[in-house]
Amino acid sequence: MQTLESLVLGRPVSGTAAPVQLFNPSTEEAVAEIRSGGIDFGAVLAYARGSGGPALRALSFAERGALLKALSAAIHAERENLIELSILNAGTPRGDAKFDIDGATGTLAYYAALGESLGDRRVLADGDGAQLGRTARFWGQHVLVPRHGAAVHINAFNFPAWNMMEKAACALLAGVPVVEKPGTSTALLAARIARIVHDSGLLPAGAWQFIAGSVGDLFDHLGAQDAIAFTGSSRTAAVVRGHRNVVAKNVRVNLEADSLNAAVLAPDVESSSETYALFLSNVALDMTQKSGQKCTAVRRILVPKERVAEVRADLVAALGKVKLGDPAAADTRMGPLASKAQFDDVRAGIGRLASHAEIACGGSQPARERGYFLAPTLLVARDAHGEIFHADEVFGPVASLLPYSGSAEEAAALVALGGGGLVASAYSNSSEWAERIVLDLAPWHGRLWLGSDRMAEQSLPPGMVLPASIHGGPGRAGGGEELGGLRGLAFYQQRTALQGFKSQVAAFAPPEAAAAR
Ligand code: NAP
Repeated sequence: MQTLESLVLGRPVSGTAAPVQLFNPSTEEAVAEIRSGGIDFGAVLAYARGSGGPALRALSFAERGALLKALSAAIHAERENLIELSILNAGTPRGDAKFDIDGATGTLAYYAALGESLGDRRVLADGDGAQLGRTARFWGQHVLVPRHGAAVHINAFNFPAWNMMEKAACALLAGVPVVEKPGTSTALLAARIARIVHDSGLLPAGAWQFIAGSVGDLFDHLGAQDAIAFTGSSRTAAVVRGHRNVVAKNVRVNLEADSLNAAVLAPDVESSSETYALFLSNVALDMTQKSGQKCTAVRRILVPKERVAEVRADLVAALGKVKLGDPAAADTRMGPLASKAQFDDVRAGIGRLASHAEIACGGSQPARERGYFLAPTLLVARDAHGEIFHADEVFGPVASLLPYSGSAEEAAALVALGGGGLVASAYSNSSEWAERIVLDLAPWHGRLWLGSDRMAEQSLPPGMVLPASIHGGPGRAGGGEELGGLRGLAFYQQRTALQGFKSQVAAFAPPEAAAAR
């Protein structure tokens, strides 16, 4: 059986510990294995800081952007093979596999273009300069410079391609070397992409390392210039943030964790409107794309009380049209859950929700004899305020309808019970209703998506993370922030206030550098 290798200190390394198997979730057959251990993590970080960092910092933004562009092309060239690996180890139908893989290459290409637009500079200005003294001779200017550490990226199982490369794109463009660790259960795809990057020889030595398996004692070796960007569950996020050495050294940490994303239907939306059709199709898509294993997938559907029966019937009909089955078949829209652990967790979660709700469709029974298949499950809450709906993230094709009065204030208060989320979507053609809910929802979310007839035709769904907009959210969602154009680089840079003689200070921040931000 294939053993997935780490790529550290410039070479592939097979681990030494007992193997952990990776499975095909459609057939339950083992497809590869990973062995942790056998890696000197202190040396891995030293290699990144000592070789990768200086080499990246010697390049301009345009040169780093050119590397990202070439990486995007190298990965894209193997797209068909990558899709097959995704189907094999993550159970994704082709469309879902493309969503992940094209998301990775698209994000690299986006940051490549940003790098090109920044040209041959190596420092970014942060805002305008300011006169600090009696005259303009004493001047201040904030600048952003690459930190001299390594970026450790801990990624979740659900987007092995996109999650790894969206983080890498920002760090590498900022001038910081990366150490990537994928979620183990779906690491086949991530390992292949890591190998493409490694074998391409495009990146300087030490700029790209990949760990198959556990991170061992890596966190013990982190220092003040290093950073951890984590994506995964709140539980693991707390372990990462609370690590003794991470706390002691004030290692920079960005957390992207769970989120009980909400979709809110306003009372003004008529059944015949484009907005209502958009609401239905987006909710059904979110529940079934990647079998609902999407951090941005809708989990709570707020619907005015008198519309619950209508929405329930329409959603059950829409979900019934989603063909569940073999992800390799061309007409399959939804595959299995990605692993046995996921399958067991989601079944147990449906059981917990069902004790406070009525099941409108689906349920916790396996949808096929073999493989980790579950049908899309829609529940109708008995009490929209029930704590379980706002606290229990069932990470699968599962969402609950929550009846509310129709008031924007009540909807916002219910959504806020989730304790902070990645994205909320609100559907209304009333600008007054939308304005009321925006001010109450925005503090709880990194992204707010407003659906209406006016944008329906051109919109991309709320579950889609776009590199131009920030990704992350407060509270339960981890309190982190990624992407968002150049904002995504700031985590890997030091913001420093330069103070001194104006022409000396301003030379680090030519006017066009500030304008580019
Ligand atoms: P997870 O179990 O928390 O694992 C996340 C990552 O952390 C994996 O790479 C895992 O490695 C690693 N890990 C586990 N224990 C660790 C430790 N003690 N120290 C360092 N790393 C450790 O989450 P998951 O099951 O992969 O992902 C599902 C969750 O992620 C869901 O809750 C979902 O909402 C969330 N998620 C959030 C976002 C976002 O952007 N906010 C995106 C995707 C997913 P192993 O796999 O080897 O255990």
